[in-house]
Formats: sequence, C-alpha cells, structure tokens
Amino acid sequence: MIHRVTIVLAEYCPHCVPFSLSNAKKIAHDLDVPLRILNIEYSAQELLADKLVKEHGDWSEDYLIPQVFVEYADGRVIHLLTGFSEAVSATESAWQALFSSSFYKNLVHGQAETHRNTLKDIVEDYLTFSSQCRRHCTKSTSFIELWSNPTKMVKAYVCPDGYVSRVIAFSTHPVVTWFRNFIVNQGVGEILNDRDLRLASRHGWELETDISHTFKHISPTGVIYEVYWTTYPKTDEERRRGLFLCSSPEQREGCKRLFVQNINSSRERCPQCSTSDI
Ligand SMILES: [Zn+2]
Ligand SMILES: [Zn+2]
Repeated sequence: MIHRVTIVLAEYCPHCVPFSLSNAKKIAHDLDVPLRILNIEYSAQELLADKLVKEHGDWSEDYLIPQVFVEYADGRVIHLLTGFSEAVSATESAWQALFSSSFYKNLVHGQAETHRNTLKDIVEDYLTFSSQCRRHCTKSTSFIELWSNPTKMVKAYVCPDGYVSRVIAFSTHPVVTWFRNFIVNQGVGEILNDRDLRLASRHGWELETDISHTFKHISPTGVIYEVYWTTYPKTDEERRRGLFLCSSPEQREGCKRLFVQNINSSRERCPQCSTSDI
C-alpha cells in the first residue's frame, strides 16, 4: 500500500511551481495519501531530498528538479517523474503523459483495492444498510462498531437514543460461540437467548457488484459470515427491558459497551459510566 507521495522542488523553479506542485497534489488526492513537499531551499528538507534522490531518483551533484516519488508502507519507493532540463512545456507534457498512462491508472486502481479490502471496508461498503429503530422508536439507526480485529468485527444498529435494534458479528469463519461469549462479556447475557443468534453466509457474487475477488483477499473460503443477534422478547417482563449502547450515536463519549435498562429510560450511559460522571 502506498502511504505517501513526495515531491522534491524549489520555489524559484518554473518547472516546479505552480504546475508540478499542483500535479503532485492531484496524485496524493487520487491515491488518498498525504503529500510531502521537500523544498531544497531549506537545509533540513534538502537533506531528506538528497537522500531520497540519491537512493531512488536521478542523482547528480546538482540534480534536476522537480522529482516525484511514491512511497509504500513497506519501504519501497517508486520514482515517478523528473523535470526536463529543456523548456517548461516539456515537463508539462511529461505530466500529461503520466496522467494518461495505463501505468498511472493501475497505480490508482491498485491503491483503491488495497485501501478497500479489509473486512471493515467490505462491511462498510456492502453489508451496511440504512434501517429504522425497531421496537423502540421510528428514527433511523447508525451502524456503530463495537469491536474489531482483521478477521472479526462486531457492529450494532443504534438509534439516536442509544437503543440497539440488532447486533451483528462479521467474520471470515463462523463464530457463533465466540459471539455468544462476546455478548456475555459485555454484561448483557441476561437477555441473550441462544435461539436469537442466527448465522448467515455472504458470498461476493450476491452483492450489488460481484466482489468475489475482494472476498477471497480476506477470507480463505471466499465467504463472509454474519451472526445476527436480534432479541425477541416473549414475556411482559422481557418486553420492558431494552438493549442500549453506552453513548448514543450523537455523543462521542461513553464506553461503547452494551447494557440493559428499561426500554423507556432515556439514560445514554451505562451504569458504570454514569457513576463515574458524578
Ligand atoms: Zn429508537
Ligand atoms: Zn459506559
């Protein structure tokens, strides 16, 4: 994954400013990474620039500028462009050629793929739906992450008052037992009925666009598993209790843990956080 674009330049150089600088900004924007500007008129930046050009660029004592690089998270660096010694227009043409090249398109496409193929991205892009609060009010819900690692994550549909309609575990392997323990560890096992935990397999080909390829990146079976937890209270006593998230979607604070309280209660924090506030 690319993590930075760097341009080595000087303010006085007409090959550099303004057009090479704005083109470098465009690359950083296309790749969705920061741009580092190394201005060789400042000695600290010049040191870094010299090292980069010496190791990965077109080095000579009085090297040509601008020079542009993309740097990968694993330390690899690719040199993209060196300004021409001839007319400024030659450097401008080089930029245009770079942008219309298939090399550049692949660079951007590759970055987009590496950027968006984590479990988190797939859930966000394809397995998140807009929905309304259920059993509590009719407001629309937000889908809030409670916990995640690269192969498992837990998210909940939560209304603005913090009421939780549905909790879902996403994973690359079926994790019903793990999810059951997760719920119990949150301290809300009292309202968990094992019948209410239901498993579903999601295949890349059944989604809006066929993303089987992306699924295979993260899941050895090519399947993303969901375990849904929706409570179906049976008795009046059960109907009075509701599942809530500590801190409502509109508030930033709170411990983001689940807790149980009367469904008509408006308390937005769990008992622990409410106590520590006082
Ligand atoms: Zn609600
Ligand atoms: Zn809390």
